[in-house]
Amino acid sequence: FNLLWILSGRMRDHNKALEKSRTRSLEFEHAASVDVLTGLHNRRWLDDVLPRQVRRAEMQGEPLSVLMVDIDHFKRFNDQWGHATGDFVLFGVSQLMRERLRPTDLLARYGGEELTAVLPKTDGPGARVAAERLRCAIASTPFELQDGTLLPNVTISIGVADAAAGRSAAEMLAAADEALYRAKRNGRNR
Ligand code: GH3
Ligand code: MG
Ligand code: MG
Repeated sequence: FNLLWILSGRMRDHNKALEKSRTRSLEFEHAASVDVLTGLHNRRWLDDVLPRQVRRAEMQGEPLSVLMVDIDHFKRFNDQWGHATGDFVLFGVSQLMRERLRPTDLLARYGGEELTAVLPKTDGPGARVAAERLRCAIASTPFELQDGTLLPNVTISIGVADAAAGRSAAEMLAAADEALYRAKRNGRNR
């Protein structure tokens, strides 16, 4: 009986230690997958999640789309207003996009001033509607600095791609990127 008692005490301690290390590893996991400036998911997270979303959509016969978003002439904006104000606008654009997407949509910072949205259960035409809604929201919302200064509106260009014909995650991103560059070439804010 004594031995059982000792063993169960050890098990308890062991479980506590495990729980603590599990909490800590969840914290690390979170820090490693969240972008500090925007609060969105980061590229590492996207690279992990998108292929799984693609496989899941394929297995369940559901549509899936991605949006590649890039702020227009952002270098010029930084040059005019400074990098800190640029950061502020990048954060604002991220927040606005998060608010305007569905709760089930996923949003990540792909890098620099490029964001990627993953839209589960959404086909190409549906994704275009979502993209257009985002484009209009950003173009019509002036951001305001703390001292009340109204910044000039920024615009975004968006490339849309769906998971058609067994496309891989990388192929979807490449297709969306290609569409994004067409939007840039054709005048931006589109
Ligand atoms: P385009 O319309 O063709 O996208 O023009 P652009 O100037 O936005 O594109 P380009 O790729 O030449 O430059 C992107 C700029 O975005 C470079 C950099 O100044 C700015 N940028 C990228 N990441 C950040 C960031 O985290 N903070 C700020 N403030 N600016 C950033
Ligand atoms: Mg860019
Ligand atoms: Mg840009």
